[in-house]
Amino acid sequence: MPAFSLEPSHTARCAELRALAEERLRPLAEKGEPGQVNRPLVAELGRLGLLERLFTAGALDLCLMRESLAYACTEAETALALQGLGAHPVHAHGTPAQRERWLPAVGEGTAVAAFALSEPGAGSDAAALSLSARPDGPSRWRLTGEKCWISNAPEADFCTVFARTTPGAGARGVTAFLVPADRPGLTGTALDMLSPHPIGALAFDAVPVSADDVLGEVDRGFRVAMGTLNLFRPSVGAFALGMAQAALDATLAHTSRRDAFGGKLRDLQSVAHTVAEMALRTDAARLMVYAAATAYDEGAPDVPKRAAMAKLLATETAQYVVDTAVQLHGARALQRGHLLEHLYREVRAPRIYEGASEVQRGIIAKELYAHLEVP
Ligand SMILES: Cc1cc2nc3c(=O)[nH]c(=O)nc-3n(C[C@H](O)[C@H](O)[C@H](O)COP(=O)(O)OP(=O)(O)OC[C@H]3O[C@@H](n4cnc5c(N)ncnc54)[C@H](O)[C@@H]3O)c2cc1C
Repeated sequence: MPAFSLEPSHTARCAELRALAEERLRPLAEKGEPGQVNRPLVAELGRLGLLERLFTAGALDLCLMRESLAYACTEAETALALQGLGAHPVHAHGTPAQRERWLPAVGEGTAVAAFALSEPGAGSDAAALSLSARPDGPSRWRLTGEKCWISNAPEADFCTVFARTTPGAGARGVTAFLVPADRPGLTGTALDMLSPHPIGALAFDAVPVSADDVLGEVDRGFRVAMGTLNLFRPSVGAFALGMAQAALDATLAHTSRRDAFGGKLRDLQSVAHTVAEMALRTDAARLMVYAAATAYDEGAPDVPKRAAMAKLLATETAQYVVDTAVQLHGARALQRGHLLEHLYREVRAPRIYEGASEVQRGIIAKELYAHLEVP
């Protein structure tokens, strides 16, 4: 399938997802407690079969799901994405026992997952993480340290935790562990963010783990993290696109209705050119996201570069589009409860998480130079 156009079946699926988000998910999202995991919403995502698709569908399908849900209900989109981020390492690297214990429950929406990489002292420089896994007998370790800014923490039922098994070895000394929330020594606190989002910090006080909890191989956990991010980065771009499209559509409707200077706002050429620019940039970013996702599904060799480009362009574009939409709506956009007031808060974080925009530029440059043949 060409990356630049969707099949009619994809377009129909997106319309169906938007309608489901509006009718079945938005009412549940509105009943949720801000900043807390919304379990009825997660369960409904499971009943609709969307969580299972996280493990059966490819990257393009994941992008279309995230974009469509984000258009109508960002809370549902985020709940879906976080299940995928936390559980993908189990799906891709888990043992049969780990997969059997957790993946059906994640798919049904009865177990909530988290992906715990960031620490107070290691964000962008994730390879500097210091949460230690100290040996505690043969094939046993104790986890000690902190994780910070972990979505779904501390309420998640299990976390994929990245810990240092070999001190001083950088990215090569990190192991991924599947840690159930009821392990002794694991505690957490919620964090209050600009856009209410279930997120928190985790404290590990000699939490016991064994070889049965390892995801993938000892000291090879950084690959688990980067593989997960390569899949999810274009889809963060898709989340941003859904928000950009919602902001653009709201702006088209508003500027067509709003009386100003003896006509409608849309009659002002500067307004018309601005909405054209918003649409142009949104469509350009969409092409890049779909192309990156298609490259992932086809196992192309340049996935890290494309994933970084897609995430970078789409999240920066969405920030521009939402900000411009606020401008064209005037004061009403800033009133608490307005769609754009909500999107203005939501659109900010994706430029920071799963690799800040500057980190994406670093990845792109590294990939460009890695493939340069200097004569
Ligand atoms: C809403 C939200 C949800 C999150 N969810 C999760 C989660 O589920 N799991 C998880 O593990 N983490 C999560 N995070 C954490 C996120 O991944 C980190 O915030 C991110 O990696 C950046 O780390 P930091 O905040 O420590 O910023 P720092 O690493 O301190 O960077 C601060 C700024 O410095 C600049 N900078 C950093 N590195 C470079 C560079 N190489 N070149 C140029 N400039 C640079 C950038 O402007 C960057 O924004 C979440 C964050 C947010 C906001």
